[in-house]
Amino acid sequence: MISDKTGKNQHGSIIPTNLYKEPAPIKDKENPFESMMERFDLAANLLGLDPGIYNYLKRPVKQIITSVPIIMDHGGIEVFEGYRVIHNEILGPSKGGIRYAPDVTLDEMKALAAWMTWKCSIVSIPFGGAKGGIICDPSKMSNGEIERMTRRFTSNLLDVFGPERDIPAPDMNTNEQTMAWIMDTYSMHMRRNETAVVTGKPSILGGSLGRREATGRGVMIVSISALNKLGINPKHATAVVQGFGNVGSVSAKLLSEQGVKIIGLSDINGALYNKDGFNLPDVIEFADKNGTILGYPRAEVITNEELLELDCDLLVPAAKEDQITSHNANKLKCRIIAEGANGPTSAKADPILQEKGILVIPDILANAGGVTVSYFEWVQDRMGYFWTLHLVNERLERMMDEAFINVYKSAENYNVTLRIGAYILAIDKVAKTLKIRGIYA
Ligand code: NAD
Repeated sequence: MISDKTGKNQHGSIIPTNLYKEPAPIKDKENPFESMMERFDLAANLLGLDPGIYNYLKRPVKQIITSVPIIMDHGGIEVFEGYRVIHNEILGPSKGGIRYAPDVTLDEMKALAAWMTWKCSIVSIPFGGAKGGIICDPSKMSNGEIERMTRRFTSNLLDVFGPERDIPAPDMNTNEQTMAWIMDTYSMHMRRNETAVVTGKPSILGGSLGRREATGRGVMIVSISALNKLGINPKHATAVVQGFGNVGSVSAKLLSEQGVKIIGLSDINGALYNKDGFNLPDVIEFADKNGTILGYPRAEVITNEELLELDCDLLVPAAKEDQITSHNANKLKCRIIAEGANGPTSAKADPILQEKGILVIPDILANAGGVTVSYFEWVQDRMGYFWTLHLVNERLERMMDEAFINVYKSAENYNVTLRIGAYILAIDKVAKTLKIRGIYA
Protein backbone atom coordinates (compact mmCIF):
# COMPACT_ATOMS: atom_id res chain seq x y z
CA MET A 1 0.00 0.00 0.00
CA ILE A 2 2.93 2.32 0.61
CA SER A 3 4.00 3.93 -2.65
CA ASP A 4 7.59 4.86 -3.31
CA LYS A 5 8.02 7.95 -5.48
CA THR A 6 11.58 8.62 -4.49
CA GLY A 7 14.99 9.26 -6.00
CA LYS A 8 18.26 10.55 -4.57
CA ASN A 9 19.42 14.16 -4.70
CA GLN A 10 23.03 15.35 -4.72
CA HIS A 11 23.18 15.08 -0.91
CA GLY A 12 22.21 11.43 -1.13
CA SER A 13 18.86 11.95 0.55
CA ILE A 14 15.67 10.59 -0.87
CA ILE A 15 13.44 13.10 -2.62
CA PRO A 16 10.40 12.62 -4.78
CA THR A 17 11.32 12.44 -8.46
CA ASN A 18 8.22 14.42 -9.32
CA LEU A 19 6.77 16.53 -6.53
CA TYR A 20 3.56 14.63 -6.13
CA LYS A 21 0.54 16.86 -5.61
CA GLU A 22 -2.24 15.38 -3.57
CA PRO A 23 -5.72 15.66 -5.01
CA ALA A 24 -7.77 18.03 -2.84
CA PRO A 25 -9.57 16.10 -0.08
CA ILE A 26 -13.19 15.32 -0.80
CA LYS A 27 -15.05 17.74 1.40
CA ASP A 28 -18.29 17.29 3.22
CA LYS A 29 -20.90 19.81 2.15
CA GLU A 30 -20.20 22.14 5.04
CA ASN A 31 -17.40 24.43 6.06
CA PRO A 32 -15.62 24.12 9.44
CA PHE A 33 -17.68 26.99 10.81
CA GLU A 34 -20.96 25.36 9.88
CA SER A 35 -19.58 22.23 11.56
CA MET A 36 -18.87 24.28 14.68
CA MET A 37 -22.36 25.80 14.74
CA GLU A 38 -23.91 22.34 14.31
CA ARG A 39 -22.05 21.18 17.42
CA PHE A 40 -23.05 24.36 19.28
CA ASP A 41 -26.72 23.62 18.52
CA LEU A 42 -26.37 20.01 19.63
CA ALA A 43 -24.72 21.01 22.92
CA ALA A 44 -27.23 23.82 23.54
CA ASN A 45 -30.09 21.34 23.05
CA LEU A 46 -28.63 18.78 25.45
CA LEU A 47 -28.01 21.52 27.97
CA GLY A 48 -31.63 22.68 27.64
CA LEU A 49 -30.34 26.20 27.09
CA ASP A 50 -32.92 28.94 27.64
CA PRO A 51 -34.00 30.09 24.14
CA GLY A 52 -33.26 33.73 25.05
CA ILE A 53 -29.71 32.87 26.12
CA TYR A 54 -29.32 30.69 23.02
CA ASN A 55 -30.16 33.68 20.83
CA TYR A 56 -27.82 35.87 22.86
CA LEU A 57 -24.86 33.48 22.52
CA LYS A 58 -25.41 32.72 18.86
CA ARG A 59 -24.86 36.35 17.84
CA PRO A 60 -21.74 38.45 18.19
CA VAL A 61 -22.14 41.45 20.50
CA LYS A 62 -20.25 43.77 18.16
CA GLN A 63 -19.29 43.73 14.47
CA ILE A 64 -17.07 46.48 13.16
CA ILE A 65 -16.42 47.10 9.46
CA THR A 66 -13.78 49.72 8.86
CA SER A 67 -12.17 51.27 5.79
CA VAL A 68 -8.40 51.30 5.94
CA PRO A 69 -6.93 53.82 3.47
CA ILE A 70 -3.17 53.89 2.98
CA ILE A 71 -0.70 55.48 0.61
CA MET A 72 0.83 52.68 -1.44
CA ASP A 73 4.49 52.69 -2.48
CA HIS A 74 3.49 53.91 -5.97
CA GLY A 75 2.07 57.06 -4.37
CA GLY A 76 -1.65 56.30 -4.92
CA ILE A 77 -4.26 55.66 -2.24
CA GLU A 78 -5.71 52.21 -1.76
CA VAL A 79 -8.59 51.41 0.59
CA PHE A 80 -8.79 48.02 2.33
CA GLU A 81 -11.78 46.62 4.19
CA GLY A 82 -11.10 45.51 7.76
CA TYR A 83 -13.24 43.73 10.35
CA ARG A 84 -13.25 43.16 14.07
CA VAL A 85 -15.97 40.96 15.49
CA ILE A 86 -16.47 40.60 19.22
CA HIS A 87 -18.56 37.57 19.88
CA ASN A 88 -18.78 37.77 23.64
CA GLU A 89 -17.32 39.60 26.64
CA ILE A 90 -19.19 37.87 29.45
CA LEU A 91 -16.10 36.14 30.90
CA GLY A 92 -13.71 39.04 30.33
CA PRO A 93 -12.11 41.22 27.64
CA SER A 94 -12.35 39.65 24.21
CA LYS A 95 -9.40 37.81 22.72
CA GLY A 96 -8.68 36.64 19.21
CA GLY A 97 -6.35 36.81 16.24
CA ILE A 98 -6.16 39.14 13.27
CA ARG A 99 -5.66 37.66 9.81
CA TYR A 100 -4.65 39.24 6.53
CA ALA A 101 -5.94 37.34 3.49
CA PRO A 102 -7.81 37.98 0.23
CA ASP A 103 -10.68 35.69 1.24
CA VAL A 104 -11.44 37.18 4.68
CA THR A 105 -15.21 37.58 5.15
CA LEU A 106 -17.36 39.00 7.92
CA ASP A 107 -19.18 35.66 8.25
CA GLU A 108 -15.92 33.80 8.78
CA MET A 109 -14.88 36.37 11.41
CA LYS A 110 -18.19 35.86 13.22
CA ALA A 111 -17.73 32.10 13.40
CA LEU A 112 -14.07 32.30 14.43
CA ALA A 113 -14.91 34.83 17.14
CA ALA A 114 -17.50 32.45 18.63
CA TRP A 115 -14.92 29.65 18.47
CA MET A 116 -12.62 31.79 20.64
CA THR A 117 -15.37 32.32 23.24
CA TRP A 118 -15.76 28.55 23.69
CA LYS A 119 -12.02 27.89 23.68
CA CYS A 120 -11.32 30.46 26.42
CA SER A 121 -14.23 29.18 28.48
CA ILE A 122 -12.98 25.56 28.34
CA VAL A 123 -9.51 26.37 29.67
CA SER A 124 -10.98 28.72 32.29
CA ILE A 125 -9.24 31.89 31.21
CA PRO A 126 -11.08 35.16 31.84
CA PHE A 127 -11.50 36.17 28.20
CA GLY A 128 -14.33 36.44 25.74
CA GLY A 129 -13.98 35.71 22.03
CA ALA A 130 -13.09 37.95 19.08
CA LYS A 131 -11.57 37.78 15.62
CA GLY A 132 -10.48 40.34 13.07
CA GLY A 133 -9.03 40.62 9.63
CA ILE A 134 -8.36 42.74 6.59
CA ILE A 135 -9.15 41.75 3.01
CA CYS A 136 -5.74 42.08 1.35
CA ASP A 137 -3.01 40.02 -0.25
CA PRO A 138 0.07 40.56 1.91
CA SER A 139 2.21 38.53 -0.54
CA LYS A 140 1.73 41.39 -3.02
CA MET A 141 2.41 44.19 -0.54
CA SER A 142 5.69 45.69 0.66
CA ASN A 143 6.64 45.64 4.33
CA GLY A 144 6.03 49.38 4.49
CA GLU A 145 2.53 49.00 3.02
CA ILE A 146 1.69 46.25 5.51
CA GLU A 147 2.98 48.40 8.37
CA ARG A 148 0.91 51.43 7.29
CA MET A 149 -2.19 49.26 6.86
CA THR A 150 -1.67 47.72 10.32
CA ARG A 151 -1.17 51.10 11.98
CA ARG A 152 -4.21 52.68 10.30
CA PHE A 153 -6.38 49.65 11.15
CA THR A 154 -5.23 49.97 14.77
CA SER A 155 -5.93 53.68 14.94
CA ASN A 156 -9.41 53.10 13.44
CA LEU A 157 -10.06 50.62 16.25
CA LEU A 158 -8.59 52.58 19.16
CA ASP A 159 -11.94 52.58 20.95
CA VAL A 160 -12.27 48.82 20.50
CA PHE A 161 -8.82 47.51 21.38
CA GLY A 162 -7.40 47.77 24.88
CA PRO A 163 -5.91 45.54 27.59
CA GLU A 164 -9.24 45.67 29.46
CA ARG A 165 -11.40 45.58 26.33
CA ASP A 166 -10.21 43.60 23.33
CA ILE A 167 -6.79 42.00 22.84
CA PRO A 168 -5.63 40.95 19.35
CA ALA A 169 -3.10 38.22 18.58
CA PRO A 170 -1.41 36.88 15.42
CA ASP A 171 -3.31 34.66 13.00
CA MET A 172 -2.95 33.80 9.30
CA ASN A 173 -0.29 36.07 7.66
CA THR A 174 0.23 38.19 10.77
CA ASN A 175 3.10 37.69 13.22
CA GLU A 176 5.16 39.12 16.08
CA GLN A 177 6.08 42.14 13.98
CA THR A 178 2.41 42.92 13.24
CA MET A 179 1.67 42.74 16.97
CA ALA A 180 4.61 45.06 17.71
CA TRP A 181 3.17 47.67 15.26
CA ILE A 182 -0.29 47.40 16.84
CA MET A 183 1.20 47.78 20.32
CA ASP A 184 3.30 50.76 19.24
CA THR A 185 0.42 52.56 17.48
CA TYR A 186 -1.93 52.01 20.41
CA SER A 187 0.77 53.13 22.90
CA MET A 188 1.52 56.31 20.90
CA HIS A 189 -2.15 57.33 21.10
CA MET A 190 -2.44 56.46 24.80
CA ARG A 191 0.78 58.37 25.59
CA ARG A 192 2.06 55.37 27.56
CA ASN A 193 3.38 51.90 26.84
CA GLU A 194 0.54 49.38 26.72
CA THR A 195 2.22 46.06 26.05
CA ALA A 196 -0.87 44.14 27.26
CA VAL A 197 -2.98 45.39 24.33
CA VAL A 198 -1.77 42.49 22.16
CA THR A 199 -0.28 39.03 22.73
CA GLY A 200 2.11 37.09 20.56
CA LYS A 201 4.63 39.94 20.75
CA PRO A 202 8.38 39.47 20.51
CA SER A 203 9.75 38.59 23.98
CA ILE A 204 11.90 41.75 23.94
CA LEU A 205 8.61 43.68 23.92
CA GLY A 206 6.82 41.81 26.69
CA GLY A 207 6.06 38.51 24.94
CA SER A 208 5.97 35.37 27.10
CA LEU A 209 8.56 32.64 27.17
CA GLY A 210 7.06 29.38 25.94
CA ARG A 211 4.44 31.00 23.66
CA ARG A 212 5.91 29.59 20.46
CA GLU A 213 5.72 26.01 21.73
CA ALA A 214 2.50 26.44 23.74
CA THR A 215 -0.03 25.00 21.30
CA GLY A 216 2.06 21.90 20.56
CA ARG A 217 2.80 21.49 24.27
CA GLY A 218 -0.93 21.61 25.02
CA VAL A 219 -1.56 18.98 22.33
CA MET A 220 1.09 16.75 23.93
CA ILE A 221 -0.37 17.20 27.45
CA VAL A 222 -3.93 16.25 26.49
CA SER A 223 -2.72 13.41 24.25
CA ILE A 224 -0.78 11.86 27.14
CA SER A 225 -3.86 12.22 29.39
CA ALA A 226 -6.01 10.49 26.77
CA LEU A 227 -3.51 7.63 26.29
CA ASN A 228 -3.44 7.12 30.06
CA LYS A 229 -7.27 7.16 30.18
CA LEU A 230 -7.37 4.34 27.64
CA GLY A 231 -4.73 2.40 29.58
CA ILE A 232 -2.10 2.83 26.85
CA ASN A 233 1.41 3.39 28.19
CA PRO A 234 2.77 6.39 26.24
CA LYS A 235 6.15 4.65 26.12
CA HIS A 236 4.57 1.85 24.08
CA ALA A 237 2.34 4.11 21.99
CA THR A 238 2.66 5.09 18.33
CA ALA A 239 1.59 8.40 16.79
CA VAL A 240 1.10 10.01 13.39
CA VAL A 241 1.25 13.80 12.98
CA GLN A 242 -0.19 15.57 9.93
CA GLY A 243 1.42 18.98 9.30
CA PHE A 244 4.92 20.01 10.31
CA GLY A 245 4.51 23.71 11.09
CA ASN A 246 4.44 25.32 14.50
CA VAL A 247 1.80 23.00 15.98
CA GLY A 248 2.74 19.73 14.22
CA SER A 249 6.50 19.86 14.67
CA VAL A 250 6.31 20.85 18.35
CA SER A 251 3.60 18.26 19.11
CA ALA A 252 5.67 15.54 17.43
CA LYS A 253 8.87 16.56 19.22
CA LEU A 254 7.28 16.77 22.67
CA LEU A 255 5.35 13.51 22.22
CA SER A 256 8.55 11.74 21.22
CA GLU A 257 10.22 13.16 24.37
CA GLN A 258 7.45 11.40 26.33
CA GLY A 259 8.46 8.11 24.72
CA VAL A 260 5.73 8.02 22.06
CA LYS A 261 7.02 6.53 18.80
CA ILE A 262 6.23 8.90 15.90
CA ILE A 263 5.76 6.66 12.85
CA GLY A 264 4.18 9.11 10.38
CA LEU A 265 4.76 12.77 9.54
CA SER A 266 3.67 15.09 6.73
CA ASP A 267 3.69 18.59 5.38
CA ILE A 268 2.09 20.21 2.35
CA ASN A 269 4.61 18.51 0.03
CA GLY A 270 3.92 14.94 1.13
CA ALA A 271 3.99 12.35 3.88
CA LEU A 272 6.62 10.04 5.40
CA TYR A 273 6.47 6.71 7.20
CA ASN A 274 9.04 5.03 9.42
CA LYS A 275 7.84 1.99 11.34
CA ASP A 276 10.75 2.26 13.79
CA GLY A 277 9.92 5.86 14.71
CA PHE A 278 11.42 9.19 13.64
CA ASN A 279 14.24 10.98 15.43
CA LEU A 280 12.43 14.32 15.82
CA PRO A 281 15.35 16.70 16.45
CA ASP A 282 16.93 15.23 13.30
CA VAL A 283 13.76 15.73 11.21
CA ILE A 284 13.36 19.28 12.54
CA GLU A 285 16.95 20.11 11.61
CA PHE A 286 16.34 18.67 8.13
CA ALA A 287 13.08 20.63 7.70
CA ASP A 288 14.72 23.88 8.88
CA LYS A 289 17.49 23.40 6.32
CA ASN A 290 15.31 22.27 3.40
CA GLY A 291 12.00 24.01 4.03
CA THR A 292 10.18 20.66 3.92
CA ILE A 293 10.38 17.22 5.52
CA LEU A 294 10.18 15.61 2.09
CA GLY A 295 13.55 14.17 1.15
CA TYR A 296 14.33 13.16 4.74
CA PRO A 297 16.39 10.03 4.20
CA ARG A 298 15.27 7.53 6.84
CA ALA A 299 11.65 7.18 5.69
CA GLU A 300 9.30 5.89 3.02
CA VAL A 301 7.18 8.36 1.07
CA ILE A 302 3.45 7.76 1.40
CA THR A 303 0.37 9.76 0.42
CA ASN A 304 -1.54 12.05 2.74
CA GLU A 305 -4.46 9.63 2.48
CA GLU A 306 -2.26 6.71 3.55
CA LEU A 307 -0.82 8.78 6.40
CA LEU A 308 -4.23 9.40 7.94
CA GLU A 309 -5.09 5.71 7.63
CA LEU A 310 -1.95 4.36 9.33
CA ASP A 311 -2.46 1.94 12.18
CA CYS A 312 -1.46 3.90 15.31
CA ASP A 313 -2.60 4.80 18.82
CA LEU A 314 -2.69 8.57 18.30
CA LEU A 315 -3.39 10.71 15.24
CA VAL A 316 -2.64 14.45 15.46
CA PRO A 317 -4.10 16.42 12.53
CA ALA A 318 -2.11 19.67 12.81
CA ALA A 319 -2.27 21.05 9.27
CA LYS A 320 -5.62 22.51 8.25
CA GLU A 321 -9.37 22.15 8.40
CA ASP A 322 -11.56 19.45 6.87
CA GLN A 323 -9.05 16.58 6.71
CA ILE A 324 -11.22 13.91 8.36
CA THR A 325 -14.58 13.78 6.65
CA SER A 326 -17.40 11.30 6.08
CA HIS A 327 -15.33 10.08 3.10
CA ASN A 328 -12.32 8.79 5.06
CA ALA A 329 -13.42 8.60 8.73
CA ASN A 330 -14.37 4.96 8.30
CA LYS A 331 -10.85 4.03 7.18
CA LEU A 332 -9.01 5.48 10.17
CA LYS A 333 -7.17 2.97 12.35
CA CYS A 334 -6.12 5.13 15.30
CA ARG A 335 -7.46 4.91 18.87
CA ILE A 336 -7.25 8.65 19.66
CA ILE A 337 -7.39 11.84 17.57
CA ALA A 338 -5.94 15.02 19.12
CA GLU A 339 -7.04 17.95 16.97
CA GLY A 340 -4.03 20.28 16.82
CA ALA A 341 -5.55 22.14 13.86
CA ASN A 342 -8.79 24.10 14.02
CA GLY A 343 -11.69 22.20 12.47
CA PRO A 344 -9.79 19.20 11.02
CA THR A 345 -12.87 16.96 11.46
CA SER A 346 -16.20 17.69 9.80
CA ALA A 347 -19.43 17.34 11.79
CA LYS A 348 -20.47 14.52 9.43
CA ALA A 349 -17.38 12.53 10.43
CA ASP A 350 -18.12 12.81 14.16
CA PRO A 351 -20.73 10.01 14.40
CA ILE A 352 -18.57 7.70 12.26
CA LEU A 353 -15.59 8.17 14.57
CA GLN A 354 -17.84 7.68 17.60
CA GLU A 355 -19.21 4.46 16.12
CA LYS A 356 -15.65 3.22 15.59
CA GLY A 357 -14.82 3.99 19.24
CA ILE A 358 -12.13 6.56 18.36
CA LEU A 359 -11.64 9.06 21.17
CA VAL A 360 -11.51 12.57 19.66
CA ILE A 361 -9.92 15.35 21.74
CA PRO A 362 -11.65 18.33 20.11
CA ASP A 363 -9.77 21.34 18.75
CA ILE A 364 -11.32 23.73 21.27
CA LEU A 365 -9.56 21.73 24.00
CA ALA A 366 -6.55 20.18 22.22
CA ASN A 367 -5.11 23.38 20.73
CA ALA A 368 -6.09 25.75 23.57
CA GLY A 369 -2.50 25.79 24.90
CA GLY A 370 -1.74 28.74 22.61
CA VAL A 371 -4.46 31.02 23.95
CA THR A 372 -3.63 29.90 27.50
CA VAL A 373 -0.04 31.14 27.21
CA SER A 374 -1.37 34.29 25.49
CA TYR A 375 -3.34 34.80 28.68
CA PHE A 376 -0.09 34.30 30.67
CA GLU A 377 1.53 36.94 28.44
CA TRP A 378 -1.27 39.41 29.21
CA VAL A 379 -0.98 38.67 32.96
CA GLN A 380 2.81 39.15 32.92
CA ASP A 381 2.53 42.41 30.94
CA ARG A 382 0.02 43.79 33.44
CA MET A 383 2.22 42.77 36.37
CA GLY A 384 5.38 43.96 34.67
CA TYR A 385 7.00 40.83 36.06
CA PHE A 386 8.05 37.97 33.82
CA TRP A 387 7.97 34.27 34.58
CA THR A 388 10.59 31.63 33.91
CA LEU A 389 9.96 29.13 31.13
CA HIS A 390 9.63 26.44 33.80
CA LEU A 391 6.82 28.37 35.51
CA VAL A 392 5.00 29.03 32.21
CA ASN A 393 5.13 25.34 31.27
CA GLU A 394 4.12 24.18 34.75
CA ARG A 395 1.06 26.47 34.79
CA LEU A 396 0.14 25.50 31.23
CA GLU A 397 0.27 21.84 32.19
CA ARG A 398 -1.96 22.39 35.23
CA MET A 399 -4.56 24.30 33.20
CA MET A 400 -4.60 21.83 30.31
CA ASP A 401 -4.85 18.89 32.71
CA GLU A 402 -7.76 20.52 34.54
CA ALA A 403 -9.49 21.34 31.26
CA PHE A 404 -9.09 17.74 30.07
CA ILE A 405 -10.55 16.37 33.32
CA ASN A 406 -13.49 18.82 33.21
CA VAL A 407 -14.28 18.01 29.56
CA TYR A 408 -14.06 14.29 30.30
CA LYS A 409 -16.46 14.63 33.25
CA SER A 410 -18.87 16.73 31.21
CA ALA A 411 -18.86 14.09 28.44
CA GLU A 412 -19.49 11.33 30.97
CA ASN A 413 -22.31 13.26 32.70
CA TYR A 414 -24.16 13.80 29.44
CA ASN A 415 -23.07 10.53 27.86
CA VAL A 416 -21.69 12.29 24.80
CA THR A 417 -18.38 12.60 22.94
CA LEU A 418 -15.55 14.74 24.33
CA ARG A 419 -16.37 17.28 21.64
CA ILE A 420 -19.96 17.77 22.68
CA GLY A 421 -18.88 17.53 26.33
CA ALA A 422 -16.45 20.39 25.65
CA TYR A 423 -19.13 22.54 24.01
CA ILE A 424 -21.56 21.82 26.86
CA LEU A 425 -18.94 22.82 29.43
CA ALA A 426 -18.04 26.00 27.55
CA ILE A 427 -21.60 27.13 26.82
CA ASP A 428 -22.78 26.30 30.34
CA LYS A 429 -20.06 28.42 31.95
CA VAL A 430 -20.78 31.45 29.76
CA ALA A 431 -24.57 31.02 30.18
CA LYS A 432 -24.31 30.73 33.99
CA THR A 433 -22.09 33.84 34.17
CA LEU A 434 -24.53 35.70 31.96
CA LYS A 435 -27.44 34.72 34.24
CA ILE A 436 -25.60 35.92 37.36
CA ARG A 437 -24.58 39.18 35.71
CA GLY A 438 -28.11 39.64 34.36
CA ILE A 439 -29.18 41.51 31.26
CA TYR A 440 -28.48 45.22 31.66
CA ALA A 441 -31.36 47.40 30.55
P1 NAD B 1 1.90 26.47 10.09
O1 NAD B 1 1.63 27.30 8.89
O2 NAD B 1 3.08 26.74 10.95
O3 NAD B 1 1.99 24.92 9.65
C1 NAD B 1 1.05 24.26 8.86
C2 NAD B 1 1.68 22.95 8.40
O4 NAD B 1 0.71 22.17 7.73
C3 NAD B 1 2.83 23.12 7.43
O5 NAD B 1 3.83 22.16 7.71
C4 NAD B 1 2.20 22.82 6.08
O6 NAD B 1 3.16 22.36 5.13
C5 NAD B 1 1.24 21.73 6.49
N1 NAD B 1 0.15 21.50 5.56
C6 NAD B 1 -0.64 22.40 4.95
N2 NAD B 1 -1.52 21.76 4.17
C7 NAD B 1 -1.29 20.45 4.32
C8 NAD B 1 -1.87 19.27 3.77
N3 NAD B 1 -2.87 19.35 2.90
N4 NAD B 1 -1.38 18.07 4.17
C9 NAD B 1 -0.37 17.99 5.05
N5 NAD B 1 0.24 19.06 5.58
C10 NAD B 1 -0.23 20.28 5.22
O7 NAD B 1 0.54 26.54 10.93
P2 NAD B 1 0.35 26.21 12.48
O8 NAD B 1 0.50 27.46 13.26
O9 NAD B 1 1.13 25.00 12.84
O10 NAD B 1 -1.21 25.87 12.48
C11 NAD B 1 -1.71 24.60 12.06
C12 NAD B 1 -3.16 24.48 12.48
O11 NAD B 1 -3.26 24.66 13.89
C13 NAD B 1 -4.11 25.52 11.87
O12 NAD B 1 -5.37 24.91 11.72
C14 NAD B 1 -4.19 26.58 12.94
O13 NAD B 1 -5.39 27.33 12.87
C15 NAD B 1 -4.18 25.71 14.18
N6 NAD B 1 -3.78 26.40 15.40
C16 NAD B 1 -2.55 26.99 15.52
C17 NAD B 1 -2.19 27.62 16.71
C18 NAD B 1 -0.83 28.22 16.90
O14 NAD B 1 -0.54 28.65 18.03
N7 NAD B 1 0.04 28.24 15.90
C19 NAD B 1 -3.11 27.67 17.78
C20 NAD B 1 -4.35 27.06 17.64
C21 NAD B 1 -4.67 26.42 16.45
